Amino acid sequence: MRVRACLLLLSGLFSGMSLAFGATHNNIIIITLDTTRADRMGFLGSTRKLTPNLDAFAGQSVVFSRAYSQVPLTTSSHATILSGTYPQYHNVFQPPLPLPARIPYAPVILRRAGYHTAAFVGSMMLQAEGGGAPGFNRGFEVYDADFHNPMPGENRYSSLERRGDEVVSRALAWIEKHSATPFFVWIHLFDPHAPYDPPEPFASRYPAAPYDGEIAYVDSVMGKLFDALRVKKLYDGTFIALMADHGESLGEHGERGHGLFLYDPTIHVPLVIKLPGTAREGKELDTRVELADVLPTVLDAVGVVKPKEIQGRSLLPLISTGKDSAGWSAYSETDYPRGSFGWSPLRSMRTGKYLFIEAPRPELYDQTTDANEERDLASSSVAITQTLGAQLDAFRDKTRSEANAAAADLSPDQAAKLRALGYVAATNSGDREKVQGADPKDKIQIFDAMIDANSLMEQGRYAEAIPKLQAVVAKDQSVVSAYQALAHAYEKTGDRENAIAALRKEVELAPDLAWGHFELGKMLAEKKDLKGAQGELELAVAGLPQSADARYELAKVYVNTLQLDSAVKMAKEALKLDPKNYDSSLLLGFVYVNQNNPAAAIPHLKVASGERPNASRPHEYLAQAYGALGNKALAKKEQALADELKQKAAQ
Ligand SMILES: [Zn+2]
Repeated sequence: MRVRACLLLLSGLFSGMSLAFGATHNNIIIITLDTTRADRMGFLGSTRKLTPNLDAFAGQSVVFSRAYSQVPLTTSSHATILSGTYPQYHNVFQPPLPLPARIPYAPVILRRAGYHTAAFVGSMMLQAEGGGAPGFNRGFEVYDADFHNPMPGENRYSSLERRGDEVVSRALAWIEKHSATPFFVWIHLFDPHAPYDPPEPFASRYPAAPYDGEIAYVDSVMGKLFDALRVKKLYDGTFIALMADHGESLGEHGERGHGLFLYDPTIHVPLVIKLPGTAREGKELDTRVELADVLPTVLDAVGVVKPKEIQGRSLLPLISTGKDSAGWSAYSETDYPRGSFGWSPLRSMRTGKYLFIEAPRPELYDQTTDANEERDLASSSVAITQTLGAQLDAFRDKTRSEANAAAADLSPDQAAKLRALGYVAATNSGDREKVQGADPKDKIQIFDAMIDANSLMEQGRYAEAIPKLQAVVAKDQSVVSAYQALAHAYEKTGDRENAIAALRKEVELAPDLAWGHFELGKMLAEKKDLKGAQGELELAVAGLPQSADARYELAKVYVNTLQLDSAVKMAKEALKLDPKNYDSSLLLGFVYVNQNNPAAAIPHLKVASGERPNASRPHEYLAQAYGALGNKALAKKEQALADELKQKAAQ
């Protein structure tokens, strides 16, 4: 009897009372609010009154008042949330490092268990194809993310990101079609991320605190989502987990934004879990938990077996017993200072009453008496600091994967996308395992200046960004990304000489940065320094085995220096990577014509004319090729076509 009563209780708790008898799987919605500080939530004690809808939701759910993000960066944190593994295991340290196929992944696991799966994301940062999150669409039947860099004058909300309203309407439209089946939906709202510019009426309501306005806007969108789910009778029976991927520093410790430090403003996050079942009393648990715990909790709650690679803990036992596990710790790290600035990475452990930060100069705070992390005890409590350092290292060793992390070598296009989203692109390939070199806390002014320069460039104000970046390199000559940004700003203002100087400095500091060689080579070719261009582009080709662009640019230099055999070889390599490329096809056809090999030229010129039917040059070279073969009729026809197209283009 006892066992049976227990089972009934469990099914009431975890399987959902509103479900039809015999149904096994509850619907699942994971909601991630980007850049959302825990201390802005009413249900976590905020008195700002920004979150009435979230507070009501929290009142029917389990609130974790001490939940921590494992990484203060969007893609890395989402990799942890959706895989239940630590950054040192999934290795998605920075965008756009791909999500490895070897790691467990929520949509893959749930689809295998019979779920329909869909993702609705709010930013190019989480776009799988051509954005910051390659591989994140694995296992999703629908991955709704279609973003691009804004054209001049284009609104960021129709290019780089979407307002929460639009993300949620798209998700609801999909849910409408799939409500009869078990579904797993991931909804991501990007709004609170910089720049802080909430739509009306929130902009007018919070003129002096636009970040708060964004939070209030997101809350209103969440209210609409929950209402719509209620109308569809999907609210009660659905497992809903809501969290922030990380918080936001609004000047604490000098940091503006997120990614550089591991203090509470960016690491302490809201986490609310609504179990399936009719509305219940809210419950607050102050056990320290991690975002890595979300996926195992989801799988446990809907009765899907957890892959053994998952590293987080299911929170269900904690929820059902309410028993506090005082011994739980929370691990966090950031590779951003190393990857994007060449400084030391940081790691932290929140354990017992302490926050320990592993840095070139380690830090220790007593969080029970020093909530703002202002009194560093590391030098006065040496033994504790050392013990926690050893614990952290042991934890990392235990949880690390042996798989090699991919290197983040960004194309100029990818770097521009990241800059547009306010991030400094990764340029350094140094040792991410070692806490060494410059301490990020000594570099906060440089970090903030880079963030300012980025924001100016994103608004097209390149001339104003230049002095900011010059000030950065005057202070610290080793910040590769500053030279990269400077080169971009100079190029945009038409100052090629200074752009070249900045690129030279960039590749001198980071000789492995193949895209730096590519940009420098291209620019040297434009100013007709073909010898210099050849050297740089040869380095680019060697470092970029997948780049058709680098091969095309080098082939062009070979043509212009009359090294025709090398040009043929390089253009062929480019076409192997990108078979229908107009430029490479045209170039190869042109070279063959000039090598008196018209028969070889013709197929490539036909590909080129097929790709761009309005271009005259393929036909011009085809006329030459047919002429050389003695086919006067075709030569005449192609020449006439070329003349006609040229005339059309001139009109
Ligand atoms: Zn984020």
